[in-house]
Amino acid sequence: MFGFDGDSGIEAIVPSSPAEASGIRAGDGLVGIGSFSVPAVSGSPDGKARLEPLTALYEALFALPPDQPFPIVLRRGDEEVRVVIQPRPACRARFEVLLGRGYIADANGETIRVGAGIMARLSDGKLAAIVAHEIAHNILGHARLSEEQHVRGGLAGIFGRSARLTRAMEDAADRLSLRLLANAGYDPHDAVALWQEDGGALTGWMPINTSYRNWRSRANLLEAELAAMRAGSKR
Ligand SMILES: [Zn+2]
Repeated sequence: MFGFDGDSGIEAIVPSSPAEASGIRAGDGLVGIGSFSVPAVSGSPDGKARLEPLTALYEALFALPPDQPFPIVLRRGDEEVRVVIQPRPACRARFEVLLGRGYIADANGETIRVGAGIMARLSDGKLAAIVAHEIAHNILGHARLSEEQHVRGGLAGIFGRSARLTRAMEDAADRLSLRLLANAGYDPHDAVALWQEDGGALTGWMPINTSYRNWRSRANLLEAELAAMRAGSKR
């Protein structure tokens, strides 16, 4: 379906990325990464692909030292090609796209998941704003903090202490996201525009929930923070 030479492969290359510099091309099949070989994906009786071996590989990759070069072996047509990736310091995260889901994005301290609906419907700038918010959650250690503080999610967490803590974390992630966007060369105003223009659609599915600001309040918080940044505040 994707046209890879093999079960796993490269669908796209981020321009100016370490992957592009190494010579990897879209369409290449993945044979090996570092000292790991990429497992074959086998089908199960219900017709679904078994992804557990790939998940184990992701975890092994995540444990690699972030600043050490590592080889990648690719299949390109009949040839096996070996390249070396030179990692570059960045916000370390694993990204997953959730297929067939609406407006959803979350982060668990390691993986950032973004719904295909968001990627299909929003501009790159607004998508970057959502990703920056999730990266901010990871940088600020919010998944660990929620666990330590026994913050409750779902219906149990929409009022009271859990709601207050969640809201404080959301505000902190929104504030930091503006700096991440600016540092990465994106326009941080896209975060404001996101909530002003798409806030209704983004939060439409949310129940009455005191742990999350409504979209207007969120746009206002971001706008105020942006003004503070422009004024040279060191907050
Ligand atoms: Zn959040």
